Amino acid sequence: PVIMPIYGTRPEAIKMAPIVKALEASELFDSTVVVTGQHREMLDQVNELFGITPDEDLNIMQPNQTLNSVMTRTIDGLDALFRQNKPAAVIVQGDTTTSTAGAIAAFYHGIPVVHAEAGLRSFNLFSPFPEEANRKMTSQITSLHLAPTSVSKSNLLTENTPAEDIVVTGNTVIDALLTTVDKQVPFSDPALEELATSGRKVLLVTTHRRENQGGAMEGVGRALARIARAEPDLTIVLPAHKNPVVREAVLPALEGLENVVVTEPLAYGEFTRMLSVAHVVLTDSGGVQEEAPSLGKPVLVMRENTERPEAVTAGTVRLIGTDEERIYTEVEELLHHAEHYAAMANAVNPYGDGRAAERTVAAIAELLGIGQRIDEF
Ligand code: UDP
Repeated sequence: PVIMPIYGTRPEAIKMAPIVKALEASELFDSTVVVTGQHREMLDQVNELFGITPDEDLNIMQPNQTLNSVMTRTIDGLDALFRQNKPAAVIVQGDTTTSTAGAIAAFYHGIPVVHAEAGLRSFNLFSPFPEEANRKMTSQITSLHLAPTSVSKSNLLTENTPAEDIVVTGNTVIDALLTTVDKQVPFSDPALEELATSGRKVLLVTTHRRENQGGAMEGVGRALARIARAEPDLTIVLPAHKNPVVREAVLPALEGLENVVVTEPLAYGEFTRMLSVAHVVLTDSGGVQEEAPSLGKPVLVMRENTERPEAVTAGTVRLIGTDEERIYTEVEELLHHAEHYAAMANAVNPYGDGRAAERTVAAIAELLGIGQRIDEF
């Protein structure tokens, strides 16, 4: 049978890559990989790193694209593909508009939907952003829910999802991370290579989340500038997101600071290496807060709430919001209180053991009646 992975953004590409590789390696399935191109450049970079050549590229993006247009162009493109390809199941990942569009298009064709990273919930449906609604809409029409943790499984059970349709796999981001970080890829920028081997303490920062764009991100920029001035022995590394709104808010406060290194988004291999070098991670990213704990790195998350509470409970992630003063004091505390640092760095990583893709492929085989699921995470 043909399985069709459908994805479009950088985080989906990273999390789907181990599944695509496991499907390719499996003798049970053929796969037809479809990308929408929702994040063109960063998506292509990840596929290249993992040696994945998409079979179909819907290339849906247009200037000033609305979410409705992402949705309709994806559904339209898939409609034609499903008629030619007749996949036995599609697999979508996470909470983007690409993934919900993929699920809806498949459902209308009577094709079973497999949802990777199912069951995350922020419990904030009417926030101005679509992720929670995307997750919930996809769950409603999914045949096989691949929950990364028991917390996400219980969210699904609370919504009356049949228990037998849920498999706890762990998050495939840990599969991607572990195979990539092992390669210790060199940095293309010699300055980063020098930094990584210098033994200097690195604070790795990423910010892109829409809810933080504007005033909150300007505060992030000012907090980073204060940290840089207070800590001359620390280097702040900020791979700046491509979105100009992010850059215009964060970067002005950082001009002229010698111990702040602003880069383009790092290729995934380089980013994971920088994660492994970092002393502390400051981020509003979903994927980064899942990855850093399995490398033993304390993470300060610049958000008020998270749909990923497991690492907060485990003690490796702390939610600190976006207040400038709070960011400054939380980073300072981690830098100067060894006990506090050790408690966060030594906490258990709750997100996976590197076998999520293997469990995913086995669960799909069971769904299609040609195999059995294996032990859960
Ligand atoms: N990432 C990367 N290069 C960077 C910054 C992040 O490859 O310069 C990776 C990171 O390792 C993680 C993913 O991108 O796996 C997270 O993507 P993002 O923060 O854009 O989205 P989110 O996870 O918040 O949906």
